[in-house]
Amino acid sequence: MKLVIATNNLHKLVEIQDKLHGVCEVLNLSQIACTEEIPEDGDTFEANALQKAEYVYANYGYDCFADDSGLEIEALDGRPGVYSARYSGQDKDSEKNMDKVLMELQGVENRCAQFRTVVALVINGEKHLFEGVIKGTILTERHGEGGFGYDPIFQPDGYDCTFAEMSLEEKNKISHRGQAIDKLCQFLKNLN
Ligand code: IMP
Repeated sequence: MKLVIATNNLHKLVEIQDKLHGVCEVLNLSQIACTEEIPEDGDTFEANALQKAEYVYANYGYDCFADDSGLEIEALDGRPGVYSARYSGQDKDSEKNMDKVLMELQGVENRCAQFRTVVALVINGEKHLFEGVIKGTILTERHGEGGFGYDPIFQPDGYDCTFAEMSLEEKNKISHRGQAIDKLCQFLKNLN
């Protein structure tokens, strides 16, 4: 079985290829000569993930999956949510995004937040969604150098360090993305 992942993000690709080894062959967008930017203008993770997977299925004829993720902060009514990458502007600057969140939460007692991923799979013309969630707390300052995005200010529940202080393996084991991908893998294994 051949499956396209609608991403050019090498880190995601390697992680997912590793998990799907022996289950199916994962192709990235350049391997199917898809070089244009895939539209992604929904206002939920579900809508964006589906939009990307359906685009590849409709235009290239491959079964496909896509993911969309972000940080949802309780005291900010779920923001930055689907706007996580561009929360402080179009340049997708993680430092500025974290500064904005820390400023908005100054003096705020409720610091509960979660990362959420939705994976959409379009296979044989059918759509399936898989979700992963990890709950935690937004700290008042950055800790750690690893990871990306909001990792230095997010401490998962049950841990005394941030995502940025964990090894990649440790983070992938518990992360929102890891959970959603595990559900996708399980589904694909059951198909075989
Ligand atoms: P994407 O949908 O995986 O590209 O994620 C969108 C944005 O959400 C990223 O650019 C980050 O700002 C944020 N984000 C998603 N997953 C993570 C994570 O695991 N750690 C930190 N930030 C994340």
